[in-house]
Amino acid sequence: MIKSFIEVNEESHFPIQNLPYGIFRTKSNEKSRVGVAIGEYVLDLSVLDDHGFFDETLIKNERVFHEGSLNKFMSLGKETWSKVRQIIQHLLREDVPTLRDHKTLRNEALHHQSEIELLLPVEIGDYTDFYASKEHATNVGIMFRGKENALMPNWTHIPVGYHGRSSSIVLSGTDIYRPQGQTKSPTADKPEFGPCRQLDFELEMGCFIGPGNEHGNPILVENAEDHIFGLVLVNDWSARDIQSWEYQPLGPFLAKNFATSISPWVVPLEALEPFRIAGPQQDPEPLPYLQSATPASYDINLEVSLKGKNMSQPQTIAKSNYRHLYWSMAQQIAHHTITGCNLNPGDLLASGTISGPEKESRGSLLELAWRGKEPIEFVNGETRVWLEDEDELIITGWCQGENYRIGFGEVTGRILPARNLNIKAKEALFNGNN
Ligand code: CA
Repeated sequence: MIKSFIEVNEESHFPIQNLPYGIFRTKSNEKSRVGVAIGEYVLDLSVLDDHGFFDETLIKNERVFHEGSLNKFMSLGKETWSKVRQIIQHLLREDVPTLRDHKTLRNEALHHQSEIELLLPVEIGDYTDFYASKEHATNVGIMFRGKENALMPNWTHIPVGYHGRSSSIVLSGTDIYRPQGQTKSPTADKPEFGPCRQLDFELEMGCFIGPGNEHGNPILVENAEDHIFGLVLVNDWSARDIQSWEYQPLGPFLAKNFATSISPWVVPLEALEPFRIAGPQQDPEPLPYLQSATPASYDINLEVSLKGKNMSQPQTIAKSNYRHLYWSMAQQIAHHTITGCNLNPGDLLASGTISGPEKESRGSLLELAWRGKEPIEFVNGETRVWLEDEDELIITGWCQGENYRIGFGEVTGRILPARNLNIKAKEALFNGNN
């Protein structure tokens, strides 16, 4: 197994086998640019580009690693991604002296991760959110419609999804204000307005698209993976009380549009290759345009922890795995584009909540606490059924190899109290005028 001259411990998410891409800047150079994570360091690809290391691979003068997003690089396609990865991996090897023994270049190109600021890695054009875990769809179905009608009749035939909101996709670490909106309890005769009372997270993963397809020209399932640049962790924050009042007949709207958080490092699909496995058996057999002979899932461990303001450390509340997803990314891409809909470099396709068969593998509070009926207990005596103000939610994920990990880092976010909108004052004024 190859090693880097940069020391990387066995638990690190970023060994030489991973090399995820991100966008960063430093105090000494505030220009956003492309970097790769290696151990506790970031390798500045704009510096390597200036020194001509990619001259034979990239189109000169395109300067894709000097960009403030990965979009341009993502548009170049699989062959280029693979060549660039080979060059970077070669330069970081312990038995290759080029960078290892070049002190000035090393100082220029390597930054400790504590000295950089990470930014949103991609300019996200369109965001689509799927609903690909059978266990999640079944659990939600039981809670909202009862056991008999748990899974809708289309679910095992169609990778169900909806078009989400890309403007409110934020980087890990961004605080989230508790959303406000209309809710209506089943016993009330009219809706009311106020802060969401059933705020939830959703454990998901997302894939970034590049190069994508021309309008009118679908991507076939067998070619779909050529259009996946890499994966990130996703927390698709959800307002369940707003959702249950608004979702019929067109699906979620405000319940999902206030924030979606992603992890900063985009792990290339190629890095996940050793962890490729078959997904769940699909029964009934999907229609031919969704059929593929290639095993199309990945063994990625996922963990969710929560830290309330009075907790000394985060406590794990869920452990799941990417492999539980029923519909593959390739099937989702094929389905998404079969009408001729075009995907562009930088589009994000999220998996939907990743729940598994065990109780602890449920990927949302809605399921973990069974819509408020089974509170989650914490070691300090607190309980949770929904997220409270000041709660911090942390999702992490990694593939476990022999003595190494291909990791995704973390996606975190903390809940802030709802903003004061002076609605009460407006109400008083309105009533006064009547
Ligand atoms: Ca979702």
